[in-house]
Amino acid sequence: MAGGGRDASPRGDLVFALWEPPLTELHGEKGAPVRRTATAETADLLTDLAVQGVRSVAFVRSRRGAELISVIAQERLSEVDRSLARRVAAYRGGYLPEERRALERALHSGELLGLAATTALELGVDVSGLDAVIIAGYPGTRASLWQQAGRAGRSGQGALAVLVARDDPLDTYLVHHPEALFRQPVESTVLDPDNPYVLAPHLCAAAAELPLTDEDLALFGPAAEELLPQLEAAKLLRRRTRAWHWTRRERAADLTDIRGEGGTPVQIVEEGTGRLLGTVDASAAHTTVHEGAVHLHQGRTYLVRHLDLEDSVALVEEAVPPYSTTARDTTAISILETDVEVPWGEGRLCYGSVEVTNQVVSFLRRKLITGEVLGETKLELPPRTLRTRAVWWTVTEDQLDAARVGPEILGGALHAAEHASIGMLPLFATCDRWDIGGVSVPLHPDTLLPTVFVYDGHPGGAGFAERAFHTAREWLTATRQAIASCECEAGCPSCIQSPKCGNGNEPLHKRGAVRLLSVLLRDAGVGA
Ligand SMILES: [Zn+2]
Ligand SMILES: [Zn+2]
Repeated sequence: MAGGGRDASPRGDLVFALWEPPLTELHGEKGAPVRRTATAETADLLTDLAVQGVRSVAFVRSRRGAELISVIAQERLSEVDRSLARRVAAYRGGYLPEERRALERALHSGELLGLAATTALELGVDVSGLDAVIIAGYPGTRASLWQQAGRAGRSGQGALAVLVARDDPLDTYLVHHPEALFRQPVESTVLDPDNPYVLAPHLCAAAAELPLTDEDLALFGPAAEELLPQLEAAKLLRRRTRAWHWTRRERAADLTDIRGEGGTPVQIVEEGTGRLLGTVDASAAHTTVHEGAVHLHQGRTYLVRHLDLEDSVALVEEAVPPYSTTARDTTAISILETDVEVPWGEGRLCYGSVEVTNQVVSFLRRKLITGEVLGETKLELPPRTLRTRAVWWTVTEDQLDAARVGPEILGGALHAAEHASIGMLPLFATCDRWDIGGVSVPLHPDTLLPTVFVYDGHPGGAGFAERAFHTAREWLTATRQAIASCECEAGCPSCIQSPKCGNGNEPLHKRGAVRLLSVLLRDAGVGA
């Protein structure tokens, strides 16, 4: 393997390697240095392993990433041997259950040598006898890291697990601080057990394994009892004799709509044939299957012709566009209630309820390899609102003066601190698959001050923002460190640029963010 890899401590028969993709010759946004992507590196590793006949699974964070990795690996393999290309595939949520079962069988029998999978593969699927596991990007918790790595290994044989770092603040931090991964106990889960959006899927998954008795219910907390009639009404669970049973034929983990987030999943249908390709969660439909979006499914590319929100259908057509698409959105946030407020010098650290209003307004078409922007297209989609929990901090004029952050760089400094803090949060607040979001404003109408919000992307909050509030000092200190120690000049994806930014990473001010956080944290030591 070439590049900037670092080996870490072996764990029994398992060799665990941390892998930082090398820098390329390219320049990114605002001349930032560009690393090879974790996607490209993972595809290369999967290809090399398949050529050697090594059975591997690559765990990938996004559905799109899983599709891309399998396509790239298939292309590379077909150059070596045509028959090999068919032995690598993608696996993700949103496939039809029959398709997923067929892939699981093929992996089990050895017909498939390599699979690029999202965590949809984790739950309840028996994957044993793998020789190698590649983890493309830190999965959010040490628990899932070890769970995924643990899929590699047959008795009496050595196995390999590789964590390929993505170009973001957290992965970069971990590759350079392996002790954060290897010398820490596995964290406890912080999901808020009283939140129905969190509890419902847990109850269903548990009942699908073994009918739930009253004694079992006690383990799920007091909210479980109230939720059961709703799950019964939704025809998910049924009470028979003394226990609650799972009533569906699908596995609970396959159902995307248990959480009840934002309504019916959108069906992806091929125009012309009427064939159902798969589904996408309602909450993700605006950003992923809007009109003009590029959709990937098992190595084929489709263009979305029409998104019908009323009937929850996206009509797609097979095509080979020389670009990918990224949605752009605007987000506004209002404070509904402040639960706790802690003075940090003159500034404030707060936790409470917020309403987030998000609207996808356009999408960019980017060249496939270089990411160069080819053009932007406006979209007319309705705004979506989310009531959730958030942590936020404010600073005053005096603090801005002390940090030498003037009005011309204020927006950029706040925005940069917001991005980096979102990037670092999974290290402190155990978060696996539910997104968090952020908003930064030079003058927020509710606080009347410069304010940075970080919110749970889950209706009602999943305990994530609360945890951020309680570890705020450590969390923002690590954030400051990650930005200050990054070798780039004015910001890069390893520190303050975010691939998820709905604002195209504008404006950002790296040094302003470091100075602002320094003042805030200095005052936190005094105030709290
Ligand atoms: Zn940087
Ligand atoms: Zn942003």
